[in-house]
Amino acid sequence: MTIKTLGFIGIGNMGARMVPHIAATGIPIHIFDLNDEASKSLARSHNNIIVEESAAAVAKAADAVITMLPAGPDVNLCALGENGLVAGFSEGDILIDMSSSQPWMTVELSEALAAKGVDMIDAPVSGGTRGADAGTLTLMIGGGDEDVERCLPVLEPMAGHIFRTGKVGSGHALKTLNNLLSGLNTVAAAEALMIGTRFGLDPEVMCDVINESTGMNSSTKRNMKEHVISRKFGGGFAWDIKFKDYKIAMELARITQTPVPFSALGFQLYESANSWIGDTSDKQSIEWVRWYEHFVGSEIRKPANDC
Ligand code: NAD
Repeated sequence: MTIKTLGFIGIGNMGARMVPHIAATGIPIHIFDLNDEASKSLARSHNNIIVEESAAAVAKAADAVITMLPAGPDVNLCALGENGLVAGFSEGDILIDMSSSQPWMTVELSEALAAKGVDMIDAPVSGGTRGADAGTLTLMIGGGDEDVERCLPVLEPMAGHIFRTGKVGSGHALKTLNNLLSGLNTVAAAEALMIGTRFGLDPEVMCDVINESTGMNSSTKRNMKEHVISRKFGGGFAWDIKFKDYKIAMELARITQTPVPFSALGFQLYESANSWIGDTSDKQSIEWVRWYEHFVGSEIRKPANDC
């Protein structure tokens, strides 16, 4: 069954950048966000984007709906809550959850939807707002073969790499583990750069060398020079999302009864940073390093005579 009309719910930092790539294929896209202005502003740029007033209205208009919401509880509410997707879905429709959701919730939701004749796959993404802008996101897709095949035409326009990860929920499991590693990479990179800075090394030179050596990781490559040593602390990836992703990974470790002492210690450091940050609403994920600098009493900066 070809998807002729698409729904997209969650026109936030990611969704607003992902929808235009699908819209460029010409397919009609019915969108909804609790923030009505976000939807209206996106619809102004494409005449095949139609704003709806509820998730139910989106599901009624479309034969497949993508959700790009903060996390699993939001997807559940959107699907099963008042005026939710199930109120508008018909038998044979499909939900594609691209949010970074809790994998166990995805499995439960897919079962609840299956009881109503609605299919579900999970297709979380990596690559951030930059990858969303460029249409080069990495997708990790969990779900049955036929369901995934059916959805590929609306997923491919946003993607640089597409991986099949197994049954429904497996994409979300892999995504959360990627984010766990990403969180730990920041800890490892900050500690190494802090020692070097205190010894008198230039942290920029350290990054250049490490990035051509075996110690390289996503944080030494993408964060340290651009956001920490520059003192910009930007990045476009919200602290709240980073912390949420780490929490999901720790809960998955608990559910699978996996001892993770190193990850647990990292999580304690993230929890401490979260308390220290206070109002996290406008903070970026790299804020963890600012907390670490406060904790140790030094900053990761270029040596004074180089500034
Ligand atoms: P965001 O907070 O910018 O956007 C979420 C949007 O969902 C908001 O516009 C909000 O109004 C809307 N929303 C929330 N609940 C809703 C509901 N019940 N019905 C309709 N709309 C609702 O978040 P984001 O940065 O776009 O991230 C979305 C998802 O993508 C998250 O799961 C995140 O972990 C994941 N992700 C984000 C990035 C990134 O760089 N921002 C990268 C990879 C993955």
